Amino acid sequence: MATSPSVETVVVDGLALAREIRKELADAVERHVAAGRRKPKLAVVLVGDDPASASYIKGKRRACERVGFDSIERDLPGTAGELDIIDVVDQLNRDDGVDGILVQIPLPKGVNANNVASAIDPAKDVDGLHPMSAGRLLLGEPGLRACTPLGIMKILERCEIPLEGAHAVVIGRSAIVGKPVSLLLQQAHATVTMCHSRTRDLADVCRQADVLVAAVGVPRLVKRDWIKPGAAVIDVGVSEVDGQLVGDVDTEGAKGVASIVTPHRRGVGPMTITMLLHNTLAAYETRTGA
Ligand code: NAP
Repeated sequence: MATSPSVETVVVDGLALAREIRKELADAVERHVAAGRRKPKLAVVLVGDDPASASYIKGKRRACERVGFDSIERDLPGTAGELDIIDVVDQLNRDDGVDGILVQIPLPKGVNANNVASAIDPAKDVDGLHPMSAGRLLLGEPGLRACTPLGIMKILERCEIPLEGAHAVVIGRSAIVGKPVSLLLQQAHATVTMCHSRTRDLADVCRQADVLVAAVGVPRLVKRDWIKPGAAVIDVGVSEVDGQLVGDVDTEGAKGVASIVTPHRRGVGPMTITMLLHNTLAAYETRTGA
C-alpha cells in the first residue's frame, strides 16, 4: 500500500505569537503617550462572584497593564438584574475616557447576554459581538471583529498560509467563532465550507480542506485521516476529559500530515485575549482620531 510522504508540521506557539503582537501594541501605546496623548482604556464589568470569571477579568486587566493601557473594573453583585447591568454599560458608554467595554460572561440566570451586548456603544465593542459589529462584518465594512476569529486570522497571516483561492472548511457555526471566522476567511478570498452537527460525511469534507478550523467542543473529533497532507489546522475547541483539557483535533495525529497545527493549549487561546487588546487600541485610535 502506498503511503503518503510525511509533512513537516509546525506546532504553532500561540503564546509566542501573542507576545510578538503585544509588543507591537505596547510600542504603539508608547508612541501615542510620547505624542502627548492619553493611554487607551478598557472597562471590564464583572457580575457576581464566579471564581473563573474573576480570574479571567484579572488576566485581562493584567494584560492591559502590560501593554500600557489603563483599565477599570465595575463589579456588580450576582443579584444584579439586566437593567442594572445595562445602566452600568450606559455610564461607561457616556464616559469619553473609556475606549472599550467588556462584560464578562456568563451573566446571572435571567439576564439576556445578547441584550447586554447590544447595549454597548458599537464604537467601544471590543469583544466584537454587538449586532452592529456582526452586521459590518457581514457587509465587509470596517469595524471591530470578534476576538477569537480575528486571532485565528492573525495566526494564519503570521504563519504565511495562503488563503486566496484556498478551500477553507470551518466546523462549527456559532455566532462567536464559526460564523465570523467563515466570513473573515471568505473576505480573504478563500472558498469556505461551513460544517455543523448535521453535516453529512464530515470526514470527507474535511479531507478537502487546505485550511481546517475546528470550533466544535467535541474532544479529538478531527482525526489524522481527516486531514489533507499540507493543510493548515486550527484547533479552537477546549473540552475537559478526565480533568484534562482536550482540543477538537488529535494534535499528535496531525503531526506529519498538517503543515501547521495549533495546540489546544498555547494555541488560539492566547491570541483571543491579545485581539481584545488589539481591538481596544483600534477603538481608541478611531475614537480619538490618533
Ligand atoms: P458552540 O456555540 O457550542 O458551537 C459548536 C458548534 O459545533 C455548533 O455549530 C454545532 O453544530 C457544532 N457541532 C457540535 N457537534 C458537532 C459534531 N459532532 N460534528 C460537527 N459539528 C458539530 O461552541 P463555540 O462557542 O463556537 O465554541 C466551540 C469550541 O471552541 C468550544 O470548545 C469552546 O470552548 C472553544 N472556544 C475556544 C476559544 C479560545 O479562545 N480558545 C474561544 C471560543 C470558544 P450545530 O450548530 O448544528 O449545533
